[in-house]
Amino acid sequence: MGKTYRRKDFLKMALMAPIGLQAGNWEFIQKKFSEKTRPSPGPGNVTYYKSGDEQYETLRKGFNKRIDKRPALIALCFNAEGVSEAIQLAEKNKWPVAIKSGGHCMEGYSVNEGGMCINLSQLNQILWLNKNTIQVGPGCTLSRIYDEILPKGKYLPGGSCAGVGIGGLVLGGGYGLMGRKFGLTCDSLLELTMVDGSGNIHKAAPGDELLWACKGGGNGNFGVVTGLTFKLHEAPKLMQSHRFKIHNTDPARAITALQKWFGLVSDLPNECFSAFVLNRKTVYILLTNASGSNTAIQKTITALSAITDKTTHTSAKPLATALKVFYGRPDPLHFKNASAGLYKGFDDIASCIEKVIPMVMASPGMIYQVNTLGGNIRNPEFEKLSSFPHRAYPYFSELQTYWETESQEPQRIKRFREVQSLFNNSGIVAQYRNYPDNDFTQWERLYYGGNYNRLQQIKNKYDPRNLFRYEQSIKNT
Ligand SMILES: Cc1cc2nc3c(=O)[nH]c(=O)nc-3n(C[C@H](O)[C@H](O)[C@H](O)COP(=O)(O)OP(=O)(O)OC[C@H]3O[C@@H](n4cnc5c(N)ncnc54)[C@H](O)[C@@H]3O)c2cc1C
Repeated sequence: MGKTYRRKDFLKMALMAPIGLQAGNWEFIQKKFSEKTRPSPGPGNVTYYKSGDEQYETLRKGFNKRIDKRPALIALCFNAEGVSEAIQLAEKNKWPVAIKSGGHCMEGYSVNEGGMCINLSQLNQILWLNKNTIQVGPGCTLSRIYDEILPKGKYLPGGSCAGVGIGGLVLGGGYGLMGRKFGLTCDSLLELTMVDGSGNIHKAAPGDELLWACKGGGNGNFGVVTGLTFKLHEAPKLMQSHRFKIHNTDPARAITALQKWFGLVSDLPNECFSAFVLNRKTVYILLTNASGSNTAIQKTITALSAITDKTTHTSAKPLATALKVFYGRPDPLHFKNASAGLYKGFDDIASCIEKVIPMVMASPGMIYQVNTLGGNIRNPEFEKLSSFPHRAYPYFSELQTYWETESQEPQRIKRFREVQSLFNNSGIVAQYRNYPDNDFTQWERLYYGGNYNRLQQIKNKYDPRNLFRYEQSIKNT
């Protein structure tokens, strides 16, 4: 029997969207690998678990209780050599390989049915290379990174949910409260180490096409990323939140508020983030500001107050404290959440929104949310260096539905699909890969735009036998 959640909890979940079995081994990260090495198997690099073994259940599960897949074998890896060894075993057995870092994939692509799951939860260390650069394991959660770097006055632009793994987040892009200031998470990625589909270990540095590909297109496609080097930024000292609510709205008022919100947040300072959230009859707008001053956004605050019923402000708090408010629930939930389009503005949804909003409002557990992107995410330099193709879109939206008991799932999913199909049929041309939906038919173009063919060439090079495969993995040519 699941835990009981209140609507407040679901709203909190929405806004989050902006174990040690053995000590980990950091040798892999400090060693200077030659361009291509294939280590021979050695003891202590990986431990295997099959159904019935202690730990199997814990290791296969992720954050989404809706996902229930059972791999034939779980390889709990302790270093890149262990990953290489596991890949060679999967190759021999002709098992598809799924890769799991933080286990937050919304469609469960980090685990599979009857194949091998490479679990990287033990690669969770943080190593300081100098005061502005860290190397982290992909299994590091965001909260672990923030807790390490914020006390030292440093920041890495990431999402807000504490349990999300840096591995999956950065390989798909990574947006968050400070993305407009510093870019996507992948824009701070300097280097990575990856074990390919034959068990060879590669390092990718600036200028390498593998690094380009992994900045937006790297989720479970080319190989297993075992180490990530990030440039850190000076952390803004303080962050303040402003919250605006409309209670008991009708659809017409919610649509008007949404249309106005698009206009009011379109030229916020880069230190700001905003989200428009609709759940049943409540509209909730969040505005965060880390610019250290209110004057720059006072006009926006006044205008948002004018279109809503209740405004509350937090005091400006140290960033580490302010971010914790958005860390979210640590325990798994039943839900479906997917990208509902990246938009240039309200016009992109004008043709479907009058149908969407009443349906969202009439659907228990459903949330429609639009978040700001833009700012430095549009930086042409970042665009050149990454395969993330959607920088021109200043808004990203997501559709979410939550439930408490399994019996509610079919109806919630049915409603979700009905609303999502309204977006899909309205001409949306861009979706965010880190919020996948198995129902997207043209996901190649939606996630990767014009970069898909180039990503396929890189897939051919690093995973020619298509070992890493799932519903929407990049296909070999
Ligand atoms: C509650 C919640 C809040 C979220 N908030 C945000 C947010 O604020 N901003 C944002 O941008 N996203 C957010 N996301 C989406 C998140 O970025 C993706 O779900 C991300 O892929 C999760 O990474 P993970 O390592 O936890 O997941 P996993 O399930 O472990 O992996 C996700 C995907 O990446 C692949 N992958 C993971 N690790 C590796 C690796 N080491 N090498 C190669 N492939 C790998 C997996 O195969 C899978 O396809 C949120 C998700 C949830 C559930």
